[in-house]
Amino acid sequence: MSDGGKDGDAFRLLLATEFSYAHSFGELAPFFRGLEEGRLLATRCRVCGKAFCPPRLLCLCGASAYEWFETNGAGAVRQVTTTAVGTRSLGVDQDAVFGFIAIDGCSNLLFARLAATDEPYRAGTRVQLLAPSGPLTHPIQQALFQAELG
Ligand SMILES: [Zn+2]
Repeated sequence: MSDGGKDGDAFRLLLATEFSYAHSFGELAPFFRGLEEGRLLATRCRVCGKAFCPPRLLCLCGASAYEWFETNGAGAVRQVTTTAVGTRSLGVDQDAVFGFIAIDGCSNLLFARLAATDEPYRAGTRVQLLAPSGPLTHPIQQALFQAELG
């Protein structure tokens, strides 16, 4: 609707929109449900035994037979990057730190957020999944890791 020129020569349209979607996670639902419960789930190929976190529904060997299992929620950082992306929706006002994490027992790397810390993360830093922090926009935002103590 036009404001009829109340602000001088301004001519603008004020709109308010809201959309609701029911987004299915399909066969990956156990992974996302697990994150909301503070559990880190992975898949294991029933043919060759390779394990993946993030989960894969199709193995590198070509097999699509897999089983879910719960990891220990821990792993080692392989690479770290710091960015100033818009993260207000995550409640983060400072730069966000992300890393590729080799979850124990899995053969791929999980890209996840790393909690703020005084000690910088480096390749090899051991990290652990943190407990869920409450409802967020998307369950993947619960994939927040922190350096293991001691
Ligand atoms: Zn396989």
